[in-house]
Amino acid sequence: MITAQKGTKDILADEIAKWHFVENAMREVFEKANYKEIRTPIFEATELFARGVGDSTDIVNKEMYTFDQKGRSLTLRPENTAGVVRAYIEHGMHRISPPVKLYYKGPMFRYERPQAGRQRQFHQVGVEVFGVDAPSCDAEVISTAIAFLNKIGLNDLELEINSLGCEKCRANFREKLKEAVKPMLEKFCDDCKMRYEKNPLRMLDCKSPECQSYLATEAVQNAINSDFICEDCQEHFEKLKGYLDALGIKYNVNRLLVRGLDYYNRTVFEIKSNSLGSQNAVCGGGRYDSLVTTLGGQPTAAVGWAMGMERLMALIPDVNASSLDAYIVCQDLNESLKLAKYLRNNGLKTEFDMQGKNFSKGFEKALKSGARFAVILGEDEIKAGKVTIKNLTSKEQVTVNKEDILTQII
Ligand code: ATP
Ligand code: MG
Repeated sequence: MITAQKGTKDILADEIAKWHFVENAMREVFEKANYKEIRTPIFEATELFARGVGDSTDIVNKEMYTFDQKGRSLTLRPENTAGVVRAYIEHGMHRISPPVKLYYKGPMFRYERPQAGRQRQFHQVGVEVFGVDAPSCDAEVISTAIAFLNKIGLNDLELEINSLGCEKCRANFREKLKEAVKPMLEKFCDDCKMRYEKNPLRMLDCKSPECQSYLATEAVQNAINSDFICEDCQEHFEKLKGYLDALGIKYNVNRLLVRGLDYYNRTVFEIKSNSLGSQNAVCGGGRYDSLVTTLGGQPTAAVGWAMGMERLMALIPDVNASSLDAYIVCQDLNESLKLAKYLRNNGLKTEFDMQGKNFSKGFEKALKSGARFAVILGEDEIKAGKVTIKNLTSKEQVTVNKEDILTQII
């Protein structure tokens, strides 16, 4: 037997109503906030992610599905910001008057150790807003995330925010952090030693408890909590906090929050749920003002986030699929097919007995189907141009003219 690959999952009929519920809520919330959907390809040039996500990240170093096609290196997208930015540049979206507000949803691929809340093929929904460097845009994007989460019934979540500052602030912070870490660098894991050289801020994001314990020492904490943020960046952050307060959105400032991707500057944020166990992040995002130029475009401010859809599914109760309105029991399949077409065209969810051999078997199927009504067309009814409609809950039954069938059911 050939089975689904490790870390991948079929989404079956009994779960799909929940996915549709989330996807419908998503469309409604995003459309109302004037975002437009974008759909980009699932594979891209490997270089896009190496440059866009950053070659000191776990994603690029360990998690990409990369393959070679006629000497061209291609990668299944591990995230979608790089792809959306590529499309933004390729289609000259800088010519559209800002903001350019986009959203996406779809499968992403990361070679990770599968566990609860962590798959190799998983789904993300995300938004990206281009062209506005004002902190009101950071607030807008965070507010969209919260509105969507609330819409699907998730209210008990924690928002953490932080500011990484601009390139100057970060250079300042990098030096302070390196200095504080240097005396104990030997003790850190190999990944952190590499990060120390390439991108020391990412050490704060290390999942190893030992590394976290070294980061908790006084010298490192002093560096983390020092004033490395310049005045402009501080003002940006204060304004963002003010907008969140005005919106009634609660948050905690977490100075350790740096996010796993290289491209963020100024605002970074994460939304967590305490009911998810160890994979507790549902949403991660931030501002990435330099990514568009890194990928060859005009300088363009940008901010966005991505959410893991499987983690959302784990948090919301099951959604029942809508039940059938009508089940047609009839031995003349021409009549069944015609009537099914008519009822469906008039908005009724309809099924019919495709065997049509035996009346009592057909009626049994109607009962099992969970339909509200059985629509019965026996020989006599066909001759008289009538149908019998049986309410399968109350068991009441009436015979009406064919023209009256809709009024009877609706
Ligand atoms: P984590 O720290 O959990 O690995 P991340 O920082 O790698 O998350 P992002 O790249 O920011 O995650 O992706 C945004 C969201 O996508 C995460 O908050 C999470 O909900 C979801 N996500 C990331 N990786 C996976 C995965 N392998 N399986 C399922 N969901 C995932
Ligand atoms: Mg990860």
